[in-house]
Amino acid sequence: MLEVENLSLNYGAIEAVKGVSFHVKQGEIVTLIGANGAGKSSILKSLSGLLPVANGKITYEGSDLSKMSSVQIVKNGLIQVPEGRHVFPGLTVKENLALGGFLQKNSAQELTEIFARFPILKERINQDAATLSGGEQQMLAMGRALMSKPRLLLLDEPSMGLAPLFITEIFRIIEAIRKQGTTILLVEQNAKRALEIADRAYVLETGRVVLEGAASDLLSSEIVKKAYLGG
Ligand code: ATP
Repeated sequence: MLEVENLSLNYGAIEAVKGVSFHVKQGEIVTLIGANGAGKSSILKSLSGLLPVANGKITYEGSDLSKMSSVQIVKNGLIQVPEGRHVFPGLTVKENLALGGFLQKNSAQELTEIFARFPILKERINQDAATLSGGEQQMLAMGRALMSKPRLLLLDEPSMGLAPLFITEIFRIIEAIRKQGTTILLVEQNAKRALEIADRAYVLETGRVVLEGAASDLLSSEIVKKAYLGG
């Protein structure tokens, strides 16, 4: 579904990503893990057309992604939930969700499904997004993305800054979204939780893939345990 080959990304003279290759097959949860500054968010930005490809190739459902605008990318079902949620604070929950569905002719069905998945959003429907807790804002950001009917959902640090109970809930929801048929590329610093729900994983260090494999294998790998699982 997604094939990234030898991808390099720069910010001026800074080489953030240096020849990264990975792929995501339909129906998978694939996770990119790694410390701060490893290049994970930059990769997701490039997949949404927000950071130009300096070198390499990104193929999404057979097409060259670097030739598409961000709007075309969204129209093709590749939707991102950005790090830090970026909900519109002065708009209500309903208005935030409506913006997520701006490309859909009829989003009533999506709205019903989202309220079933996130009942708290229905309770808060007319509240400004700014008044929601961090966990609720994460749910709103995910709901907003689901309004666009993603085929491939990019999640950037969905558990960041959340209380443990919300973290458990967010990971449960990610698994449920995949069960419904959406493929997921998950960027996380919470390596343990990410590896527990993912099929495959890539470990990034300073812009390079240093390890890859089945998530269950990486979960039990001594290198990963020492560097990323606190043991
Ligand atoms: P984090 O979890 O902290 O977001 P990350 O793995 O997502 O880490 P990136 O945010 O992709 O890492 O950053 C990769 C490298 O690019 C880092 O060295 C970072 O300092 C640099 N970088 C990121 N954004 C910019 C920017 N807008 N301008 C210059 N350098 C940047």
